[in-house]
Amino acid sequence: MICRGIVWLAAALVAASCAKPSAGPPPTSLPDAAPAAWKRPPITDFHAHLSLDGADRLRQIMADNGVERFVNLSGGSGRHNAQAWLMAKLLADQFPGKIVNFASPNWRGFGHPDWIARETEALDTAVTQYGFAGVKIAKGLGLGHTDEHDRLVAVDDPRLDPLWRKAADLGIPVCIHVADPRAFWWPLTPRNERWDELGVHPYWAYGPIPDDVMAGFPPQAQELVRQRTPVPSWPAMLQAAERMYRRNPRTTFVAVHFGNAAEDLDYVDGLLQRNPNVWIDTAARVGEFGRHPAGKVRAFFDKWQDRTVFGTDIGIGSDYLMLGSNGEVEPQMADVKPFYDAHWQFFETTARQIAHPSPIQGRWHVDAVGLPAAVLDKIYRSNAAKLLDRNLLKARAASAPAPQPNAAVPPPADPTPAWAQALSQAGTAAAP
Ligand SMILES: [Zn+2]
Repeated sequence: MICRGIVWLAAALVAASCAKPSAGPPPTSLPDAAPAAWKRPPITDFHAHLSLDGADRLRQIMADNGVERFVNLSGGSGRHNAQAWLMAKLLADQFPGKIVNFASPNWRGFGHPDWIARETEALDTAVTQYGFAGVKIAKGLGLGHTDEHDRLVAVDDPRLDPLWRKAADLGIPVCIHVADPRAFWWPLTPRNERWDELGVHPYWAYGPIPDDVMAGFPPQAQELVRQRTPVPSWPAMLQAAERMYRRNPRTTFVAVHFGNAAEDLDYVDGLLQRNPNVWIDTAARVGEFGRHPAGKVRAFFDKWQDRTVFGTDIGIGSDYLMLGSNGEVEPQMADVKPFYDAHWQFFETTARQIAHPSPIQGRWHVDAVGLPAAVLDKIYRSNAAKLLDRNLLKARAASAPAPQPNAAVPPPADPTPAWAQALSQAGTAAAP
């Protein structure tokens, strides 16, 4: 980890020298990257998973990394007499104004006639009595939660519309995780680009698993794989999400993980273009959007600088840490600073072929984008402040355009590699 720090220092020096005109034109016509003298503002990390017992570590991590505020997406639901909300509130009370909790629905009983009334009331309670500031919808919507007929609840299930409307009325955003990285749908073999991650958690994969690969997993993991149930395709899930955004233009959505489609920059650009009520966060996807040409990524951030918030997907508990994603070995406190530093390096320098913050998500390197100071300031903190301003969101809701329930939504590109197509078609008796 120490050597990674040195690599960054070296890269930052290279980047600083690259910013001079003599080093050639920058990749786009945007202003130069933030100057060396620029001082990073206090950060809001808009995508974190915090627990009450992690308060001491949290304090340390904030101090070490200049994080002023965390949005805790793990505020939980109101079940069991709102135990989770109470704990989240106790944590927030220790950090006045610096921990912001988001609540999730209790999916139990979905589809029964009283479910939606219960959950809209619960959301009201979370906001007015526990000080919550948003909704978090985890990927279980569309991938795992079932209704009263034991059918998978679709992301655009209209039975959820009153909940989205309630969020708009309360002036709070909805952070929504839809689907998963595209490669999770490809056959799971060592050729899958997410093998490092999926090989440790094979039950995260949705694609077929060849028998010989399966045989290499521990019995418990095999059992979990066998319990998998079929899920919609990657493009179908993203289309469902967009139908839902379009039907609910008064509600402000943060499509987390870079619009849930960091694989396809043009698609996310179109998503934001078509849906003024949708924002994105950067959580756990630097490795993915960082694979596109740096000039294109830089232009993307410039274009969408008013609807992008910085987030990392850090998880902090007393005996638990997650840094974007986890493998077999859990990270230690000493790994947290290099994790944040990797983000700063990506957004603030123009270094080439650097490590991304969560190397377990793929064995490749990324090119940093060196954003201008004004853009960094918005993404790092001031956009977050807007999303957490209830009056502002209520005003947006009041002036929102009419819903577009029947508009056709385009799918993202889905260039599944030839090996994956061939393996899916041929059956999966053996890995290549
Ligand atoms: Zn997360």
